[in-house]
Amino acid sequence: MDKSSLISLEGKREYCGAFGVYSFSGKDVSYDAYRGIVALQHRGQDSAGIATYNGKKVELTRELGLVSDIFTNERMKVHAGATVAIGHTRYPTIGAGGKEDAQPFFLEGVKGGIALAHNGNIANYGKIRAELEKEGVKLCSTCDADLILSVFVREHKACKDYFEAAKRTMQVLDGSYSVVLLSGEGELVVFRDPHAIRPMCFGKDAEKIIFASESVALDINNVPLLGDVKPGEVYVVSKAGVENKVVLGKEEKHCMFEYVYFSRPDSVIEGKLVHYARVEMGKRLARAAPVKADIVVAVPDTARSAAMGYSKESKIPIEEGLIKNRYVGRTFIMPSQQKRENAVRLKLNAVKMELAGKRVVLIDDSIVRGTTSGPIVKLLRSAGAKEVHVRITCPPVIAPCFYGVDLPTYGELIAANRSVEEICKYIGADSLAYLSVDDLVASIGLGKENMCLGCITDTYPTAFGNEIAQKMKKEGRKDGVRIWEEKA
Ligand code: AMP
Repeated sequence: MDKSSLISLEGKREYCGAFGVYSFSGKDVSYDAYRGIVALQHRGQDSAGIATYNGKKVELTRELGLVSDIFTNERMKVHAGATVAIGHTRYPTIGAGGKEDAQPFFLEGVKGGIALAHNGNIANYGKIRAELEKEGVKLCSTCDADLILSVFVREHKACKDYFEAAKRTMQVLDGSYSVVLLSGEGELVVFRDPHAIRPMCFGKDAEKIIFASESVALDINNVPLLGDVKPGEVYVVSKAGVENKVVLGKEEKHCMFEYVYFSRPDSVIEGKLVHYARVEMGKRLARAAPVKADIVVAVPDTARSAAMGYSKESKIPIEEGLIKNRYVGRTFIMPSQQKRENAVRLKLNAVKMELAGKRVVLIDDSIVRGTTSGPIVKLLRSAGAKEVHVRITCPPVIAPCFYGVDLPTYGELIAANRSVEEICKYIGADSLAYLSVDDLVASIGLGKENMCLGCITDTYPTAFGNEIAQKMKKEGRKDGVRIWEEKA
């Protein structure tokens, strides 16, 4: 593997929300797209964009910021009368991702131009970028959606068929990608990588069809969920109707972290309600790692469902011991202990009257670098908690992610370098336990063989993922590449 392949770890941190809508009746769907990406805002707060087709051409708006700040009524006027639309929200990052990296991207060349947005991460980005540059293609950003679009347009020019172009694109790309694409001829094309790593569902009624990273973007538009795009499946929606075909399907390898942390609890992914999966994680944690305690407290908000499960199973009452300030969005995790504690304090407050004198079971979804848990344990103790027993729904994160979850390198992952006892000591807890890989998989209910468990097993679903992992281990890369220094 040449050095350029490692570029893929430096700056392409795409854990995003993607949305597409097509009106069968010709009614305006610009606000469907707006509502859709509002519902997907939790998947990315860094930038947002909408591309629409109004019967004549593609209109594109993409900006840094939150959906509601970018898309004022004034800005939406340019999208009025759209019959087809795609939308995107991008995950916050540090060091990469100016406005030029905001999606959707637009490229002329075929079909009156094509706008494209995606959720995922191209693991062989560096290799493909180098190949494109050799062919004379100039990418205008460091975003992998730009790369997917260039490959797709190149392939479409050669074969002039959406299904074949998507298949050829899949043969070139290694990684995760759930893609929505809008043409200047008013077609909507959607496809998902051959392992269906990142989510993409769809729903339909008499008026329209919607595709989205999560079903909450269908709910908000009152469109019923019908299912998920299959591994390697392509949908083409046009005046001819809805056509779909699996062009390059492999084994399903859905990302477990969607269920653990990233997706909204009210989303249904691959037929599983995320909230139920988390409740089950909590129940199983309670069975596998019981502890004598007075109250169960969740680190808000992701861990609430799991805390409910732990409480139900253990019969220990759940209480609101920590309250999150919902207006604090991005907080930078600074390198000093004092600054990290300040960041936690900015976001979380401990409820002294609930906690004083109590033995607490603290439920959180994950420990990644181990920077957050310590300050939270300290916060509970300073509010008077007598004991703090930490229970984590994600098994120890021992390896990086190459498919779009912003998990750092081996050197920075605390569980890759320390035992559970050592981590317990490091975060200052009275006890610490993680859910096992088998219990996690059983909680989700899709079967071990159908999940991507790369970050907790160090075995990846794609060839390039395994190759990068080997190379990182051999070279002992501990240099902070792809660390996620900030949190939503
Ligand atoms: P750490 O302090 O590095 O151990 O991070 C663990 C905390 O960050 C947990 O409370 C998670 O809810 C949260 N978290 C986990 N994964 C991510 C991610 N990819 N981006 C932002 N926050 C995350």
